[in-house]
Amino acid sequence: MTFLVDSHCHLQSLSYSGKAGTDPAQILGRARSVGVTHFLSISCTTKEFKKDLEIAAPYPDVYLAAGIHPLNLEDDPDWKDEELISCINSSPKVIGLGETGLDYHYAPETRKAQLESFSRQIGIALELKKPLIVHAREAHRDAVALLRSENARDCGGVIHCFTDSVEMARECLDLGFYISFTGIATFKASDNVRQAVRYVPDDRIMVETDCPYLAPVPVRGVENEPAFVRYTLDFLSAFRGVSQEYLAMKTSQNFEKLYGVKLEEPKEPIPECSSWKLEKIWHQPFATAV
Ligand SMILES: [Zn+2]
Ligand SMILES: [Zn+2]
Repeated sequence: MTFLVDSHCHLQSLSYSGKAGTDPAQILGRARSVGVTHFLSISCTTKEFKKDLEIAAPYPDVYLAAGIHPLNLEDDPDWKDEELISCINSSPKVIGLGETGLDYHYAPETRKAQLESFSRQIGIALELKKPLIVHAREAHRDAVALLRSENARDCGGVIHCFTDSVEMARECLDLGFYISFTGIATFKASDNVRQAVRYVPDDRIMVETDCPYLAPVPVRGVENEPAFVRYTLDFLSAFRGVSQEYLAMKTSQNFEKLYGVKLEEPKEPIPECSSWKLEKIWHQPFATAV
């Protein structure tokens, strides 16, 4: 098994213009052609979720999550529990609650509202038995404290786009959470993130694009897309001293375990790692080093 999951993408937020493809079929096709065969598309508002539900409908390999992002509270300050619950219950494709969490980097002024919203969403995740997809930016300490005090261990979850210290990674792992890395791990200035990359054990690591944001080296700066999770996977595996196949297998198994799903083996044969051909798509030298 060498197929790979993009465990966190925002399909409804891609621009669908230009090189990456003008519709989801093209973009998902590019990803599949380099072995990225399953996708979890994340929404940040209930409105986004409805868009995502439409996009994902034709594709059995696209899963969904619904949540209220801390930076979207302004769009929907009075969001209702029932509305989020009905999104989550609207389709068997919905396997998680998120993204939710805290962001004190971009919106420190809404800290109180963020904490309240996050706390309610932890309650819903516990009630519906869905794992949490947690966004925490300059707010890991508060996020972990709230997850701990509200018993989020019982529904489990993942800290997505992890950018904090090894110490914080340890606290998240102690809570039973998974830790997911984006292209940020490939950036030159991300030594602290790479320390966490080294620290997280095989049975708790995940990999994601968070596209359309955060394209990894060597495609940094362009619009990110699910295919590019390959670059991050290749970087992480080189950095941890394991093969790409091994880390692809581990991250897929972790995804299955957290979300309680069985990922179907793709019908099309997956190209061998050595011939994975992402570089040909982008006509750029392939790089696993920063
Ligand atoms: Zn996020
Ligand atoms: Zn995201």
